[in-house]
Amino acid sequence: MSLKFTNTLSKKKEDFITINPNQVKIYCCGVTVYDLCHLGHARSYLNWDVLRRFLIWKGFEVKFVQNFTDIDDKIINRAKKEGCSTDELSERNIDEFHKDMDTLSILRPSSMPRATKCLHQIINFIEELEKKKIAYSSNGDVYFSVDKHKNYGKLSGREIEDQIDNAAGRLKINQKKSKKNSLDFALWKKSSSSEVSYSSPWGHGRPGWHIECSAMVKQELGESIDIHLGGSDLIFPHHENEIAQSEACNGKELARYWLHNGMVNVGGEKMSKSLGNFTTIRSLLDEGISPMTLRFFVLQTNYRKPLDFTEEALKAAAKGWERLNNCLSFGYIFKIKDQNINKINLDKPVKKAINGKLDEDSFKLLSNFEKYMDDDLNTSGALSVLFELSQPIRKYIIFLKDKNIHEVDQDILNQVFNKWELLSELAGVLGLKVNLNQEHQIKVTKFDTIKIEGLIKNRSLAKSNKDFLLADKIRAELKDIGIELIDKPGGITEWKQN
Ligand SMILES: [Zn+2]
Repeated sequence: MSLKFTNTLSKKKEDFITINPNQVKIYCCGVTVYDLCHLGHARSYLNWDVLRRFLIWKGFEVKFVQNFTDIDDKIINRAKKEGCSTDELSERNIDEFHKDMDTLSILRPSSMPRATKCLHQIINFIEELEKKKIAYSSNGDVYFSVDKHKNYGKLSGREIEDQIDNAAGRLKINQKKSKKNSLDFALWKKSSSSEVSYSSPWGHGRPGWHIECSAMVKQELGESIDIHLGGSDLIFPHHENEIAQSEACNGKELARYWLHNGMVNVGGEKMSKSLGNFTTIRSLLDEGISPMTLRFFVLQTNYRKPLDFTEEALKAAAKGWERLNNCLSFGYIFKIKDQNINKINLDKPVKKAINGKLDEDSFKLLSNFEKYMDDDLNTSGALSVLFELSQPIRKYIIFLKDKNIHEVDQDILNQVFNKWELLSELAGVLGLKVNLNQEHQIKVTKFDTIKIEGLIKNRSLAKSNKDFLLADKIRAELKDIGIELIDKPGGITEWKQN
């Protein structure tokens, strides 16, 4: 099966075909930096992190751009309230954003443009649209003329006439005489030089929100990209307007695939500040929810569906993650085949390993994992594969309890180890990072082999120093914990468990 995504543009699940072979250019709408990130952001960026990791695992070269909106009324108002400059507020919230995303093991984007640093590109873009007579200025504002762009409404599926009817009511309240058509949207908004404003060919003002993304996509990735990402609340008007601006300016399709994630519901209601059910990532983590529990919880639901956030669901996710984490810690806890340990580093995306040692069952599970993920990122299906793969590991962990790892069948141990390696790799594709400090991790086998071998070494040293008292003391100490030593010719000491 080939990789497929549900494209909001066609409303269909489509085969994924890149513009350039093996290269994927992605743009993701970022946050407005006036406050801490909330659960909705976590949901969105966790999903897109998995998309990115999966594409890299499959062998694509991915360029991932995500912006910061640092020009916005919300930022200006918040800065006023806090008595700081908009730059100070933005800088602080950008730092906090990185802290949250790093904690959730979300890979940092390839680049993160900011509106204040792209004003030149934004102004150029608007001038281009003016030249093409698709934009017009009016009393210091500049508007995009919706009826000059023939495909307006193609993403959201809205007819212009319907929208004019809808807008008519709003217009009565908020008369904007400078607009030619009620649906025309601002590319540049006039503001007095005493406010936060930037100079432009139209006088002092600020760019509109939509134009920012169009200009940044062009600057960072070019005129056409493979995937444009965002929350479903951005389809209209933000993404619709981005398409209109970019396609009118460049004469090329802005993005081949538009992927949108569903919203977060809290206790059956949409999460919103006004409802008071608004949860920041920081407050969840402060309550002791582990970052990986949150990731596991998000991945249990298809990215397009609404995510129901309840305490019970989060508790269930914590249990599920704990079970998986136990199996993921197997190779580390038993410290077998040391050369392979620590190879999964989630700060870097995992690449597909060519593992010729896989048994038939594991190979089938690997292929099921890829099939699920190829099918519009079915992460809940992918998680079910991880659980299937972890079953024999869990059984083996139980079997190993009270056993000396050196005395178990090495072929079986190797087989389980191979399964663990695959489990670690696939968990890495989902960005699930083993937590070895988790309270409920596997109990370390009764016999700490490193400690035993260290004591044997000390005993040999004592013997060679003719300190037989110490040598005997060590032998007795080991005997107390059930370890018997067998001295062989050539000074070699073996041990067995009684
Ligand atoms: Zn955007």
